[in-house]
Amino acid sequence: MNTWNPWHGCKKVSEGCLNCYMYYLDRKRNVDSTVVHRLKNGYDLPLKKDRYGNYKIKSGETVFVCLTSDFFIDEADEWRKDAWDIMRIRKDVKFQLMTKRPERIKACLPEDWGDGWDNVALDVTTENQRRADERLPILLELPFKTRGITAAPLLSEIRIEKYLAQSKIDSVTAGGENYDGARICSYEWVKSLYDQCVEYDVEFEFFETGAKFMKDGKVYNIPRLLQREQAVKSGLNYPPYDAKNVVITDKCRRCEKRYMCKGRKDCAGK
Ligand code: SF4
Repeated sequence: MNTWNPWHGCKKVSEGCLNCYMYYLDRKRNVDSTVVHRLKNGYDLPLKKDRYGNYKIKSGETVFVCLTSDFFIDEADEWRKDAWDIMRIRKDVKFQLMTKRPERIKACLPEDWGDGWDNVALDVTTENQRRADERLPILLELPFKTRGITAAPLLSEIRIEKYLAQSKIDSVTAGGENYDGARICSYEWVKSLYDQCVEYDVEFEFFETGAKFMKDGKVYNIPRLLQREQAVKSGLNYPPYDAKNVVITDKCRRCEKRYMCKGRKDCAGK
């Protein structure tokens, strides 16, 4: 999986941030996660070339942006233009943005954004009903060619039918929580999202169970390495994995390269 972290650090904004994995990892290194800073190495990663002059990130690959921050955090306003410039240069690469701050996006888009760039997709995170109802109406109005919902860490049942019904959401992904203090994720909540996506014919990916997964009233402690496998075995993916093509490691069933393209219609294997 390609990740590009042009800046690091973040401020907690909602319930899903409580056990943020970036805070957890920084604690182990004695780093203050609340200090948002541009990274000296790696801020221009998509432009890096190998010794033969070829881009290290290949054409057609997907890059997940800002996994140790939030791309739209206000502290990064002065650096974001450079990041947009890089995405404009690498039109051949798919950039996947994810945010808990959709209300900031409109004012942060570049002048030539128009109705969205083909190579930039946006996921908004919604961990519970309250955040879904705050953030998804904004997501639906934002000019992006590809829009998704990431329900992780999933903390409750979320009803999103009225948003899916508008045919502007391309995919929904869901997963449980990890690291210190991980909260329970319930099979019933995932099943509810799955059912809603099936009803509205929207792709649904249950990508990991989280460390504490509850089914039929029993809580299971699931090691990280087995969480993906257990999620696949739950059968809560739409369209379903067929028996031959079940992917339980890190391969995508469409492009057969990297799982984290999420097997979307627009993944590298299209
Ligand atoms: S927005 Fe994301 S990166 Fe920032 S504190 Fe919350 S979970 Fe962590």
